[in-house]
Amino acid sequence: MQDLVPLPALADNYIWLADLGGGHLVVVDPGEAAPVDAALARRDVASVTILLTHHHRDHVGGAMALRERWAARVIAPHDDRIEAATERVGDDQRVDLAAGTHAVALAVPGHTRSHVAFVVDDVLFCGDTLFSLGCGRLFEGTAAEMQSSLARLAALPPQTRVCCGHEYTVANARFARHVDPGNEALAEHASWARATRAAGRPTLPSTIALERAANPFLRCDAAAIRKAVDALDPDIDAGTVLGRLRSLKDGFDG
Ligand code: ZN
Ligand code: FE
Repeated sequence: MQDLVPLPALADNYIWLADLGGGHLVVVDPGEAAPVDAALARRDVASVTILLTHHHRDHVGGAMALRERWAARVIAPHDDRIEAATERVGDDQRVDLAAGTHAVALAVPGHTRSHVAFVVDDVLFCGDTLFSLGCGRLFEGTAAEMQSSLARLAALPPQTRVCCGHEYTVANARFARHVDPGNEALAEHASWARATRAAGRPTLPSTIALERAANPFLRCDAAAIRKAVDALDPDIDAGTVLGRLRSLKDGFDG
């Protein structure tokens, strides 16, 4: 992959733009078309492939217009609510992209029932499943589903770059510090994120290594997290811990 940039869109979304080489571009979760059109107008475009992680409007809103304008392939999960799709992918399915690169889809239910993540080279596009220092809300899935989806992403190689659908890191850090006050990796990353946002730069991509060290939703077995949700008893499973943590955060955010 020659280039990987987040295009800010809507209120706090990122549309990811990856250049596979030779002008073969991948666009992930275009919630609106305009930022993508502007970015593509500045490049020599050989082909455009759109990857969609889930059906929410802030991730697919620009897909149909872009598909028409750029003759793009649109790869999406099996879900009739995503009308712009030209190809559907299921769990563990590999899709050849341009320039000798491929994407692997991973089913990650929890935020929505058909949500997928895509792995391209050492890059993870995880939509609204995993955020830096947080995770998506449980709209259609159970806490147990979300916990196993997150555990699956956490098992990717540590150097994997994590490209999420939203810039939520600073707000997530406030909650993470509340439930995991003694975590130094978290404290350090939280102050880096505040300074980075204050300077107007994105806090993403993150890495799997950082998220494993600092994201409370990937640390459901850590004593500090279990203590925060009154689940020190080891018989309480990780899915239950995640459910309690998610409810606590829903209240924390107001
Ligand atoms: Zn969403
Ligand atoms: Fe979203």
